[in-house]
Amino acid sequence: MTPQTTGIHHVTAIAGAPQRNLDFYAGILGLRLIKKTVNFDDPGTYHLYYGDGAGNPGSIMTFFPWPDAPRGRVGAGQLTATSFSIPAESLGYWTERLIEHGIPFEKPSQRSDETVLAFSDPDGLPLELVAATNDGREGWRDGPVLPEHAIRGFHHVTLLEHDPAPTTKLLRDTLGFRQSGEDGDRQRFEAGDGGAGNTVDVLTSADARRGSLGVGTVHHVAYRVPDEEIQLALREEISGLGYDVTSVLDRNYFRSIYFREPGGVLFEIATDPPGFAVDEDLSHLGESLKLPPWLEPQRERLENALPRLQIPAAKR
Ligand code: ZN
Repeated sequence: MTPQTTGIHHVTAIAGAPQRNLDFYAGILGLRLIKKTVNFDDPGTYHLYYGDGAGNPGSIMTFFPWPDAPRGRVGAGQLTATSFSIPAESLGYWTERLIEHGIPFEKPSQRSDETVLAFSDPDGLPLELVAATNDGREGWRDGPVLPEHAIRGFHHVTLLEHDPAPTTKLLRDTLGFRQSGEDGDRQRFEAGDGGAGNTVDVLTSADARRGSLGVGTVHHVAYRVPDEEIQLALREEISGLGYDVTSVLDRNYFRSIYFREPGGVLFEIATDPPGFAVDEDLSHLGESLKLPPWLEPQRERLENALPRLQIPAAKR
């Protein structure tokens, strides 16, 4: 069997202040804070993970909050939109919710047969809610959003490319995606079971300004593989194509490899296992600061250096 990815695993972006990030993603969007840990490559800063109740791949949005970092610029060579899936009949609920919280949004637009609500997070990161008809996943039931309206995970991500050909070739020939649509300058690809959470849009703009990394931009997108064996096989294949791909890194909740696609977006391939219940009970995800074993000896120093965070109450 050819090694392939089966969809989106997670998206990681750069935020400013961690509490404001938490208030927005948990308090307003109603995602569950599924892990509060540190950036393993920069342990003096947080790494916050949000998702559905269990942190299933395809629902995981993560942030490096770097309050002192400069603002980035969204542009070519980046993810220019991260889109979440909501029930088709929840569009009214969400427009009201955004109004209630003073979040400006664009007039809902129609893209093929989907209705899209576009807005930004407090750091300027572009987000969308897509009213999706055939998404059977369940969102976080115990958050501030009524369960019947909860975000169910990602719908798709959008990559902006000057020249789409090398990127789409990589998605198709190596990563296991197949083209499922085309609408003007937008090509749609789906992996695995397809549909919401397994979809990547490649948007082409030959003269778009290049993006720059910073607060309010996406750091990388991770695609999922079922196990380490497939990850290693895929690593061989990607490396054989001439990509500079990292060795397998232990991210505690998954194993990862990273490489940059031809257009400049940082891609990660992450394993589904072991998942977020590896170091705390599912019923208590996100409640306390978790550290990987190799950082545990530094816990006291790290806890003293990190700002205290308050998880927003789930009032409805
Ligand atoms: Zn990642």
